[in-house]
Amino acid sequence: MGDKIKYSLGLNKHDSYTRNHMELANMKAVIYMSVFIVFVELWMIERIITIVLFDSEPRTTRWIITHLRSYVILLSAAIFMLVHATRYLKGKRLSYSTNLIILSVYSAICIYFGMYVSYLDYIKGEQILSFITMILFSCCLLVWRPIISLMVLSATFLLFYHICSNEVPATVATNINLFTTWMACLMISISMYHQRMSEARKDAKLEETNKDLHITNEKLEESNSHLDRVSRRDELTGIANMRQFGKTAKLMLQEAFEKGQDLYFLYYDIEHFKTYNEQYGFEEGNNLLRDIAGELSILYEGSAYARYSDDHFIVLTSETDAHEKTEALANWLHEHQGEAFLDLKVGAYKAEEGVGVSISIDHARFACNSIKMNAEKHFCIYDNSLYEKQKRKQYIINHLDFAIENEYIEVFYQPVIWTKNKKVCGLEALSRWRDPEYGLLPPGEFIETLEDVCMIHKLDKYVVDKVCKDYNEAKKSGKKLLPISLNFSQLDFNLCDMVEYVIDTAKKYNVPKEYLEIEITESALSKEHELLKNAMQRFRDAGFNIWLDDFGSGYSSLNVLKDFDFDVLKIDMLFLDNFEENANTKPIINIIINLCNKLKIRSLTEGVETEEEFEFLKEIGCERVQGYYFSKPVPKSELESLIESEKLILSEEL
Ligand code: C2E
Ligand code: CA
Ligand code: CA
Repeated sequence: MGDKIKYSLGLNKHDSYTRNHMELANMKAVIYMSVFIVFVELWMIERIITIVLFDSEPRTTRWIITHLRSYVILLSAAIFMLVHATRYLKGKRLSYSTNLIILSVYSAICIYFGMYVSYLDYIKGEQILSFITMILFSCCLLVWRPIISLMVLSATFLLFYHICSNEVPATVATNINLFTTWMACLMISISMYHQRMSEARKDAKLEETNKDLHITNEKLEESNSHLDRVSRRDELTGIANMRQFGKTAKLMLQEAFEKGQDLYFLYYDIEHFKTYNEQYGFEEGNNLLRDIAGELSILYEGSAYARYSDDHFIVLTSETDAHEKTEALANWLHEHQGEAFLDLKVGAYKAEEGVGVSISIDHARFACNSIKMNAEKHFCIYDNSLYEKQKRKQYIINHLDFAIENEYIEVFYQPVIWTKNKKVCGLEALSRWRDPEYGLLPPGEFIETLEDVCMIHKLDKYVVDKVCKDYNEAKKSGKKLLPISLNFSQLDFNLCDMVEYVIDTAKKYNVPKEYLEIEITESALSKEHELLKNAMQRFRDAGFNIWLDDFGSGYSSLNVLKDFDFDVLKIDMLFLDNFEENANTKPIINIIINLCNKLKIRSLTEGVETEEEFEFLKEIGCERVQGYYFSKPVPKSELESLIESEKLILSEEL
């Protein structure tokens, strides 16, 4: 049988939800039906009692019992069902099958009495409304599967027809009436059934959606609370994350500004953490980060602290705490660093009203980054000049290539003078950056930056090239030529083969070796540096002179003299500071000059600014001098005009 027909007849299997829905609907219908029957039966009983008491015609006991019996039975059944259905609705339920039996018996009683009363009415020639009413109640108000309704309705109608027509033969009109009523009842019952079925399905869907919604809600709540945790805590260390820090910091700042207290943002960076990871493994690295976070939470309890990222942490605290606790943290770190060498760098920013938390953190971070790779500095407080400096630094890094290509880098020359006759015996090449945005930048503005980012060799190669070119041009134009000393960074020898470059460039421009002097600073030699030693040897082997620059500025001046050979020793200009006031200056310089004479190294003193300084140096036998007293470093054209105007006189002897 097709599924549709099965479904229409109600032969399909009901799921538990549909069964419960139908049962509940039927129990509600039982209540309406029973209340009605109770009223009707009470009315009937009252009618019988009135007849017995007030009717003049006496009634037999049999008559009374016959009439009362059916009313009382029906009344009792209705009251029973009323109680039963009410209990059901209150949740005191019997099993489904028991309930079905009770409902069937109740329906059978109702139909029986309906049939009985209508039979009596029929044989008296009256309407059969009781039968119809009870059928409507039992098969339409109560809902059964269509097949059951069909069977019950057909059986009862046939039975009723049979009993009645035995007594009084039915007319054609009665037959038709009975048939159409049967048909109508059947239609109503089937339609009621399908209506209930579709309600049940809708309800089931609704309930399922509700259940899903409930589950979704539960899941949402769960993930919300997880998200809330994640959104506040750093996953690795469990301390606050930046979001939470931002919130706490805002409140702390508000309170501090109201009370007029100073607060500092501290940005911690653990330098060389990478080497710790490499040495001990990633997992141990994570453990150390957790421990650091733990230490922070002990030190800064009551303040705001968080993990910023990687090995960076952020704190908002008072000024005294900033110093004391930072020191405590640095000590703790050194105790827990194992074989690695970790360095705690701190950038601080004093909180200001009107400056937001994230900008303040940026400032602290900026201050911290400015001392990165600087082994001597551990604590740096942000100020605006720091920012400007950093901006300029970045500009230099970004624009070096462009500056070289466009010849913004210029070579200035500073004359070196014979003390004996004040004539120029050589020139020192010193670079300048003539920038369209920042103007003329002295080397102090860019040399260190270029060293920091390992770009210094680009500049020095350019200077070597320019100096050789200038020499070549001077030679071609028949000018008198002077040796030029070149400055190099220690890094030049790591970053490229500077020795080879100088040799090649000199060859390219036909510059004889004696016309290029190689200046190596004392500080470069103080570090154990095989590469530099090797480079110096190669320069020497190639026939270049090597000068020791900035002698006396470092800690190992004498050692340097012991270990290397130099042609010229440049006494650092610091010795001439406070020349007149400092009584020690003269004897010290005197000793250095004597030392040079003993070691057969030629002497040169830098930074000579006065007549007195010059006279003293001449007197003690310093061979050469260099300084503003004679000339500042000047561009090539200016140097030429100084020579032309005989303000500078070139020496014959070199
Ligand atoms: P330095 O080699 O010791 O050069 C001498 C510095 O002293 C120059 O500064 C010069 O202008 C300055 N100076 C000369 N006479 C006097 C004086 O009488 N009084 C005072 N107060 N200063 C005087 P500058 O040109 O600013 O160069 C600074 C440093 O930058 C140089 O020190 C040198 O180490 C480095 N440098 C300059 N140009 C280059 C370059 O092209 N490459 C490399 N690697 N370093 C360079
Ligand atoms: Ca120099
Ligand atoms: Ca120098």
